[in-house]
Amino acid sequence: FGPRMVKEALYTYVRPDGVDEYELLGVSEAAMRDIGLRKGEEETEEFRRAVAGDGIVTWDEETGVGIYPWAQCYGGYQFGQWAGQLGDGRAISLFETTNPATSKRYEIQLKGAGLTPYSRFADGRAVLRSSIREFIVSEALNALGIPTTRALSLTLLPETQVRRERMEPGAIVCRFAETWIRIGTFDLPRARGDRKLLRQLATYVAEHVYGGWENLPAAIPASSSSSDETDSKKKEQDLAAEPSTGVPSSETQGEGKDAQNRFTRLYRAIVRRNAKTVAAWQAYGFMNGVLNTDNTSILGLSLDFGPFAFFDAFDPSYTPNHDDHALRYSYKNQPSIVWWNLVRLGEALGELLGAGEGVDADEFVEKGIKEEAVKQLVETAETAIETAGEEYKAVFMAEYKHLMTRRLGLKTFKDQDFDSLFSEWLDLLEAHELDFNQSFRKLANIRVADLVSEDAKKEAAGTLFRSDGELSALGGGESAARERIAKWLDGYRARVLEDWETSPGADVDAERKKAMDGVNPRFVPKSWVLDEVIEAVEKKGEKGVLEGAMRMALSPFEEEGWGWDGEIEERWCGDVPKYRGQLQCSCSS
Ligand code: AMP
Ligand code: MG
Ligand code: MG
Repeated sequence: FGPRMVKEALYTYVRPDGVDEYELLGVSEAAMRDIGLRKGEEETEEFRRAVAGDGIVTWDEETGVGIYPWAQCYGGYQFGQWAGQLGDGRAISLFETTNPATSKRYEIQLKGAGLTPYSRFADGRAVLRSSIREFIVSEALNALGIPTTRALSLTLLPETQVRRERMEPGAIVCRFAETWIRIGTFDLPRARGDRKLLRQLATYVAEHVYGGWENLPAAIPASSSSSDETDSKKKEQDLAAEPSTGVPSSETQGEGKDAQNRFTRLYRAIVRRNAKTVAAWQAYGFMNGVLNTDNTSILGLSLDFGPFAFFDAFDPSYTPNHDDHALRYSYKNQPSIVWWNLVRLGEALGELLGAGEGVDADEFVEKGIKEEAVKQLVETAETAIETAGEEYKAVFMAEYKHLMTRRLGLKTFKDQDFDSLFSEWLDLLEAHELDFNQSFRKLANIRVADLVSEDAKKEAAGTLFRSDGELSALGGGESAARERIAKWLDGYRARVLEDWETSPGADVDAERKKAMDGVNPRFVPKSWVLDEVIEAVEKKGEKGVLEGAMRMALSPFEEEGWGWDGEIEERWCGDVPKYRGQLQCSCSS
């Protein structure tokens, strides 16, 4: 047992290292509920041991008691370069469980419970610092409605000192997800030319992760292929619309080599999910920070929380990853990088996409691959990937527009909104270094009914400024800032009133504020906030701070406060302290 190459397999049975000393620091109540545990069950000895990986009973042949924990094998492209075999180097899955109330099945996993065959040169451990970050952000994203892997608990290992830049306490996060399979899971068998494993894996994902071929999007209507202006808009709408599902007759009857086959439908399902998730990241100012293919979920879950960040002020070129000199994983590049990753997936699925139903890829091999046949297969696969690329763009744009429209408190989206409202809003947040998420919240408090005179608009503009009154030098001084924001507010007011024209007598500002406060978080765990939590927990052992942060993460839209510590709550919902700027982290800690 020990780090090694694992061939012709996608996982290895492993045992978590036992630990003698451990302390449960916190649980997520939402996570407890979602996997079907009752409140208070975290108090039991059994729970505390299980989430610390203590006394996990591995399978005993004779008694027929126990579980088979496992670690997954995968590869990946890191910073655009093929990195070979990676795998769960410090994550061990314990079992799957289905919540009877929701029928959702989850794979429960411990992160930081010791070495696996995939630990490579590292120690299989996670430090408290990074575990706190993952624990809170997983639950914060979920509460915002952004697809993500989840975190159930955080356990401190006080005796387990882990070497990073210094010696640090270790920790275990018990986490769960509907699947931990990622694009890297496909990359590895592709790199090894293991065609049989690829087909098995793709089939498993369709049948068990997506719940069956019949749940995948149906073939794209053939009408979506014209090129003039109005038709291209129609085509984009068709692609973005929620597709119907079901097995097309060409699959069951195996007719026509060009008939879109089921692996293409699977690919499209994966593409669509990821498009929506990235759109949500963009709309909420979240950056993953290491969007390697091994960190891109085949279910579009936010996955692997290393140097992630939520924006303080909006800065599209910002990357939270300290090693990301080329800005590959910066905010503005996320949509194209996720697509880059999805193209790698398309290539891994290659022959499965290309073969078409009735032209089984295995036949090519059995009969000896003929040049002409291969050429045709490659062409069909390339077309499938290209079409999926258009679908990715369309789904991404539709979701992004939808979310931004809601965040700005509008009921409808009009084409001109993109440039005149969205872009200019973002530009002025950037120019004046205004807090990204908080500004939407502040905008909800500005009453369009009050925006009648130039002075009133300029006064309203001032409510978006930092609360300490400091202004960024970038934006050209206070009066320039007021003027620019006032101008934007003017256009905004017109759009709001236009949107409400159909509801005469409505209290526009009250309705708009209510809708906006339901989608614009008051609290997101920004890097400087997480640093304060880490400081309090690690240096002072203040579990209450962790609990408070989790409570805020779990109900980010709370208007009245969280009933924990008013002073801290207020500060954490406010501006980043001037001296703390936007911080960066390294990848794996
Ligand atoms: P990441 O940058 O988090 O995506 O990690 C890349 C690879 O390194 C994955 O296969 C991880 O499992 C592995 N890895 C990261 N940190 C450790 C660690 N402390 N021990 C073992 N493997 C690790
Ligand atoms: Mg990873
Ligand atoms: Mg990681």
